[in-house]
Amino acid sequence: MTCTYNGSCLCNKVTFTVNGFSDKAANCYCTMCQKFHGSAFGTLVGVIGLTWDSGFKYLKHYTATNGTIRTFCMECGSSLGFRVKNAALEEIELAIATFNDDIPVNIDAQIYTSYRANWCVLQHDLPIFNEGRL
Ligand SMILES: [Zn+2]
Ligand SMILES: [Zn+2]
Repeated sequence: MTCTYNGSCLCNKVTFTVNGFSDKAANCYCTMCQKFHGSAFGTLVGVIGLTWDSGFKYLKHYTATNGTIRTFCMECGSSLGFRVKNAALEEIELAIATFNDDIPVNIDAQIYTSYRANWCVLQHDLPIFNEGRL
């Protein structure tokens, strides 16, 4: 039996299904994640077997000055995913909070914490990295 996990943007035009997740997921406090997600940190996770079920035409891709690509819904603005420079859409990491139900993912690190906003408190039961993972 194949497990499926469903997610969507806020307006529900963009919906997707995956079959699994990468074993690493970090809360990222970098400035770009703060801006893109409009929050203290972003959490993205690699996925297995991604299918865009609806709303593919609503996907909008923003390429930042460093070449990283962020994908969002052009109707409701929901932050959906991230890719490294020149990566294909198939390699997208999805914003973990867009899944509809609980998913089998464990956050195992806090990264780029040197960019953390002063009003945000880190979790002390998770490894803390000033920049990326070592
Ligand atoms: Zn939307
Ligand atoms: Zn980040």
